[in-house]
This record gives sequence, structure tokens and C-alpha cells, in this order.
Amino acid sequence: MDELEAWNCRRHTTQFLSGHGCFGYYLHRFKKLDEAICVDCKSLIDDAEHATFHCDRWWSSKRALEVDISKPTEPETVVDEMIQNKEIWRAVKKFVDMVMSNDKKRRGGEDSPAASTSLV
Ligand SMILES: [Zn+2]
Repeated sequence: MDELEAWNCRRHTTQFLSGHGCFGYYLHRFKKLDEAICVDCKSLIDDAEHATFHCDRWWSSKRALEVDISKPTEPETVVDEMIQNKEIWRAVKKFVDMVMSNDKKRRGGEDSPAASTSLV
């Protein structure tokens, strides 16, 4: 993994943990979309948590992740699990990176203006 790749992974994980990113709810605040409704399952809230934990679009990938780490992935517990176990951290991060980069592509590849300034 080169430096740029590592940075991109960290950026996506940071977006996920902070609830920002290229998602409808976020874009809605900047009036880029008319509605913050998920285009896949019509959920009224389409944010990072929705895409990662609740959306039908990622159901099979999420299930594969749960089998992989032998834990349920719930927003209330997954961050604690990630911090305690490096393998879980890696597996969840890979899943989040996949969800984030696909979601960005789905919306036409536009990056959020805050993403480049909210790095940890
Ligand atoms: Zn959805």
C-alpha cells in the first residue's frame, strides 16, 4: 500500500466515524440534492450510518463481514470492537472503504468539500 492509498483508507474511515462523507443527508445540507432519501431502499435518512449498517444495498457484504469477524456489526458496538481487535479493525475498515467508494461513484464521484479539511 503506498502513501496515497493509505491516506485514502484513513480518510474514508474518518468520514465513517465522524458521520460525514459523500452521502445524501450531508449533501442535503448543502442543497445539492432535493431530498436526502436513499436511492436504493428509499430510507428517509441516507447518511454514513444508514449506508454502512442499515441499507439493503450492502446487506450481503455486511453479512459476509459479520461471518468474517464473528460479531454482529451494530453502530453502538462496532467502534469498540474495532479498537479492541486489530483484525476486526482491518475487516470493518475494508468494508467501510468499499461502501464509501461505491457510494461516491454512485453519486457521480463528487467529493464532499469538508472531506479534505476534516482529516484526523
Ligand atoms: Zn438505503
